[in-house]
Amino acid sequence: MSGPSIVWFRDDLRLADNPALRAAVERDEAVIGLYVLDEESPGIRPLGGAAKWWLDGSLRSLADRLAQRGSTLVLRRGAAASVVQDVAREAGAGAVFWNRRYGGAERAVDAALKSALRGSGVTATSSAASLLFEPWTVLTGSGTPYSVFTPFWRACQSGPAPRAPLAEPRRIRGPAAAPSSDDIGDWALLPTDPDWAGGLRQTWEPGEPAARTRLREFLAEDLADYDRSRDEPAAGTTSRLSPRLRWGELSPHTVWHEAIGAGQSAGRFLAELGWREFAAHVLYHHPDLATQNLRPEFDGFPWPRLRPAQLRAWQQGRTGIPLVDAGMRELWRTGVMHNRIRMVTASFLVKNLLIDWRRGEEWFWDTLVDADGASNPFNWQWVAGSGADAAPYFRVFNPELQAKKFDPRAEYIRRWAPEYGPDAEALAPPPIVDLGESRKAALAAYERMRRSRRA
Ligand code: FAD
Repeated sequence: MSGPSIVWFRDDLRLADNPALRAAVERDEAVIGLYVLDEESPGIRPLGGAAKWWLDGSLRSLADRLAQRGSTLVLRRGAAASVVQDVAREAGAGAVFWNRRYGGAERAVDAALKSALRGSGVTATSSAASLLFEPWTVLTGSGTPYSVFTPFWRACQSGPAPRAPLAEPRRIRGPAAAPSSDDIGDWALLPTDPDWAGGLRQTWEPGEPAARTRLREFLAEDLADYDRSRDEPAAGTTSRLSPRLRWGELSPHTVWHEAIGAGQSAGRFLAELGWREFAAHVLYHHPDLATQNLRPEFDGFPWPRLRPAQLRAWQQGRTGIPLVDAGMRELWRTGVMHNRIRMVTASFLVKNLLIDWRRGEEWFWDTLVDADGASNPFNWQWVAGSGADAAPYFRVFNPELQAKKFDPRAEYIRRWAPEYGPDAEALAPPPIVDLGESRKAALAAYERMRRSRRA
C-alpha cells in the first residue's frame, strides 16, 4: 500500500543508528515522526517526574532535528495502539515502523497494534535497536534464559558482534500535510509549582547532539581512567551516558563501536553495557520484575510495618549517615547518582531501615532521569538479594567503610552534604539508626525468612 510512512518513536529519540527511521526513509515515501504519551494502556508504567522533565527536552530536540531535515514530529497522547491507528488513518499511511521494547505491557501493546495495522492493510515493521543482543537469542545450552551475569555475557560475546551503527539520514522527505499535533507545553511535563528542576537544568542538556558530545568527550578524556576510578564517586570519570541510553539518544551499538575504536582498553566499560543488556534480558523473561521478587522465598520476608518518617528521611537525605545523605541529595539535585552510591543507599534502605525494596525502587523511578523499566528494578532486586545473580542478602554495605574506601578525602560527601565536612559550621544530624544494631536486625529477619521456609 502506498502513502506516507510513520516512524513511531518511543525509547529511541535519535536520528542516527535508528533502524525504524532508516527503513522508513528507504521506503521512499514521505515520513512522519510520531510520539505518543501513553498513560492509559494497561500495565504501562507512568513516567516519574524527572523522566518527564527529560522527555520534554529530548522531544523538543528531536522535533527540531526532524524539521531541519524536512520532516515533522506529531505528538499525541492516549492509549498508544489506538492513537497510532488514528494517526495512520488520518495520514493515509501505508506503513508504520518502530524499534522494539522489551517490557511485558509494552510488548502486548506492540503486538496488538501490529496485527491491527496489518489487518487494515498497513505494513507494520519492528526492528532491533535498543539492545545489542535480542533477549530471546541468548539462551543457555538447555534453551533457558540466563540468571547469572558472567555466563550470560560470555554467551553474548561468543556470538556475532553487534552490527555497525547505521548512518543518520541527511534528508527526510516530509508529508505535504501532517496530521495535527498536540503542543508539548500542554502536556505539562515540566514541574511548575514548585519548580524543583533547577538542578536538572544546570546538569543536563537532553537531546541527541549533547549525547554525542558527551560520548566523544568521555572516550577522549575519561575512558583511559575508567577501570581505575569508576568506583570513586568524586572522580567523575564514568560516562554519564545512562539517560542517553535510557531515552535512546544514543544507541548501544554506537557506544559499543566507538568505545572499541577509541584506542583504549574498553572491556570493563563494555561489561557495564553488558549489565544493561542483562537487566533487559531478565525483564523480558520476568515481566513482573518491578513488583515480584525473582526469588520467591523473599515473598516470606518479615518486613516490619513501614515507618514513613524513616522513608522520608532517606528520600530527603537526612538520615545522619554522610554517604547516604550525600547520595540522596545528588539524586534529588541532578537526577542521577553514582553507581556505587546507588548500591550503598539502596542497601541502607533495605537492610538498615528494613524497608521493602519496592518503596526505594519507586522513589528512584520518580527521581532518576535515567529511570529504566529494566535496570531500576533489576538493580534494586540485586541489592535486596531477591534478584537474578544478586548480592547475597547477608552482604550489608557499611556506608562508613564504603566512604573510607571510595571517598577517602570526603570530597563527594562535602560536595553534596557539606554539613558533614571537617570545616562545616552547621550541625550534622544524628544517625536515625545504629548501623551495627540495624545490621544485626536485618540478618535476624533474613534468618526468620529462611527458617519459616524450611518449616
Ligand atoms: P557507566 O559506568 O559509564 O556505565 C556505562 C553504561 O552501562 C551506563 O550508562 C548504563 O547504561 C550501563 N550500566 C552501568 N552499570 C549498570 C548496572 N548496574 N545495571 C544496568 N546498566 C548499567 N541504571 C539505569 O540506567 N537506570 C536505572 O534506573 C538504574 N537504577 C539503578 C538502581 C540501583 C539501586 C542501582 C544499584 C543501580 C541502578 N542503575 C540504573 C545502574 C547504574 O547505577 C547506572 O547505570 C550508572 O550509575 C549510570 O552512570 P554512568 O552512565 O556514568 O555509568
